[in-house]
Order: sequence, then C-alpha cells, then structure tokens
Amino acid sequence: MLVLVINCGSSSLKYTLFSHDQERGSGLVEKIGEAGARHTRWVNNARRTPRAVTVANHEQAIRLMMDGLVRDRLLASASDIDAVGHRVVHGGSQYTDATLIDRGVLNNPIGRELAPLHQAVYTGIEACLKMMPRTPQVAVFDTAFHQTMPPKAFTYALPYRYYREYKIRRYGFHGTSHKYVSLRAAELLRQPPRKINVITLHLGNGSSLAAVRQGRCVDTSMGLTPLAGVVMGTRCGDIDPAIIPYLMEREGLTPRQMDALLNKQSGILGVSGVSNDLREVIAQAEQGRARARLALEVFAYSIQKYIGAYHAVLGRTDALVFTAGIGEKSPYLRKMIVQGLPGLGVKLDAGKNRRTLSREGFIHAAGSRVKVLVIPTREEYMIARETRRVARAARR
Ligand code: ADP
Repeated sequence: MLVLVINCGSSSLKYTLFSHDQERGSGLVEKIGEAGARHTRWVNNARRTPRAVTVANHEQAIRLMMDGLVRDRLLASASDIDAVGHRVVHGGSQYTDATLIDRGVLNNPIGRELAPLHQAVYTGIEACLKMMPRTPQVAVFDTAFHQTMPPKAFTYALPYRYYREYKIRRYGFHGTSHKYVSLRAAELLRQPPRKINVITLHLGNGSSLAAVRQGRCVDTSMGLTPLAGVVMGTRCGDIDPAIIPYLMEREGLTPRQMDALLNKQSGILGVSGVSNDLREVIAQAEQGRARARLALEVFAYSIQKYIGAYHAVLGRTDALVFTAGIGEKSPYLRKMIVQGLPGLGVKLDAGKNRRTLSREGFIHAAGSRVKVLVIPTREEYMIARETRRVARAARR
C-alpha cells in the first residue's frame, strides 16, 4: 500500500512516500511564496541536487511534489497512491483520532481560527482533493493523542462559559510524536503499553511534555495553543497572565504585537539575547556569558518542574523518554535536566548519554530507579501508519 504523508508548514511543504513501512522517497519545498524557493528530493535515502523553483502557494507546491515523484519514478501517476495522510495541527475536541477528511474537517472552526499560522494545511488538502479525488485523504491531528486527558487536566479556571462558547481548554500538541515514542518505549522496555507509565519529553524548537499512564495521555504541557508549558526556543511557555495586559498598556502594544512578542521574541532567545538555537546558547554559556547560562537554567528548570508534577500525578514513573532535536542530540541538556531531579532516583550513565546521538538507546545508569531512553521521533512514519489504518477501515 502506497501512502503519501504531507506536512504543510506556513511557508514549506514536507512530504514522504511510504510503501508499507518503508520510506521510498521524500521531499521538501521551502520558502513558498518567497524569493529563493527551492525543492529538495530524496530517493531511497539518496539526496538529489536541490532545484531553485518559483512557487507562489501550497497548491503549486503540491503540483511540484507530484511532478518530482513521477520524475523520480516513484510513481507512474498520482492515481498510484492508495491514501494520503495530512498532518493537521489542531483538531479541537471534536477529533480524538485520525479521521477521513470530509467537509467537517475542512470547516472545523477551531482548526481554522486557533492555528492561523497553519492555514496552509487546508490549502494543501484542497489541492490534493482536486488532484486525487478518488484517493482517501486522512487527517492526523497533533491534538488527538491528548484527548484522553480528564476534565480536571484540560479545564482552565476561567468563567465556564468561555469553554462552552469558544471551547477554550487545554488541547496539547506534538501528539503524534508523544504517541509514537510512548509506544516505542513500551516495545523497548518489553512491556505492553498498559503496564507502564512514562513521561515523554519532546524537546525541539517547540517543546512539550506528556504524562502517559498505561498508554493513555493524562496531562500535557501545551495548552489551547503551543505557547503554553515549558520554555521554548522563542516562546515564553507558562508566565503570569497578568504580565500580558500590563506590558500591552506600558508599551502600547496591540494584541497582534503582544502575540508576536510571546511567540517569537521570548523563550531562550529572549532571555539569552543570543539565539533560539540551543547549540549557540550552550557555546556562549561555556564561554562564560551569564545570560546564556541563565537561559539554559530557566529552560531546564521549567522542564524539571513538569517532570516533578507528572511524576506526582502518575504515582510511579517507569521511564523518561527524550525525543526531537534537543532530546535526540543534546547530551549536555539531557544531563542538565536529569541532574536537577534529585527526588526521582534517576541517574544517567555518562558514557551512554554522550554516545546516544540521533539513535535509540537507554542512557540511565545501573541502579537508576527510573529508566531513561532516547527515541528519535518518527512523526511521518506514525502519520503513515494512522493513515493506513483509517483508510483500510473506511474500505470495509
Ligand atoms: P522543530 O521543533 O522545529 O521541529 P527540532 O525538533 O528539529 O525542531 O529541534 C530543533 C532544535 O534542536 C534547534 O533549534 C536546536 O535548538 C536544537 N538542537 C539540535 N541539535 C542540537 C544539539 N546538538 N545540541 C543542542 N541543541 C540542539
């Protein structure tokens, strides 16, 4: 079964073609609608020379993708594709699982209004529906895995009518990643998911944690939007909400400007004044720059507090699972985070931590009460699996 996975970002299109579980080819169209757009393709893991392209919107990018797949002989035509899986950021509370795309998904107001940066997804879906009208198209939501949270975890203590009227509540994001790594952790621990409790740490430019009890998410750090939770590259994470009207008044900021300040100028970048890229901040901290050091400490501490809270909620934590850019590639930050958890009885093996880069592995020391794993996330693969499951069920 040939499944095409599509991930539309605000100015990019990433796609991967799977034949069963095998990745056949993939590609990336960058800078859509800008000067300097380019299309990079991989065929059976070999990278082709990127091509400069002119691409005004995501519909054109979808056409470029299809032409590339045919040119690389991965397909004879679009009709060879058995199903298409689209990554959709926000599913609201309506979608607790991946679903076949219909008008309901396309008009889902929460997806459209709360994830304005991700509107490109809908352009991508419409373009695929036009190009492959008979092929099942599946939406795989970043929010779906977190829909098992109980009301006490997802309800904000605001007047209740805002929940009723606007569906304002915690949703959580990176669900496909948290689901994949929690399932994979169970495999590596040789336990069925229902027998273990894990805390998953998706630490990238955007970061979130999830408390997963017996295979089901019971809490997660992001909220109505991906701004909440731990400190991130450019996002502030949890702050005192009273700061927002205070700063808006003092600095005369509009809601849009305030939103940009919280999403794009805060976090590691805001505190360090260096970069949102942890590699640069670590380098500066090592050279003795105090604010770079402070930014790393604020980042690690915000994560430690969530781990502590989730451990308390779970009662027993079998494993911490690190994933995404920072979780997979930074022994420095893994060590910094784990060292600040004295109450948990968790110890790293320094050598294993140092050697486990962008690959799976256990990195805890013998005698550690909580196991620690690194698992590279595979969101595309997971979306392909979910797409296959939903498309097969729809055929029956
Ligand atoms: P995104 O959230 O955009 O998908 P990734 O999960 O790829 O991002 O993570 C990207 C981030 O990971 C970078 O901004 C950088 O801060 C961090 N990162 C990548 N490699 C390292 C490393 N070796 N050490 C520290 N941080 C790293």
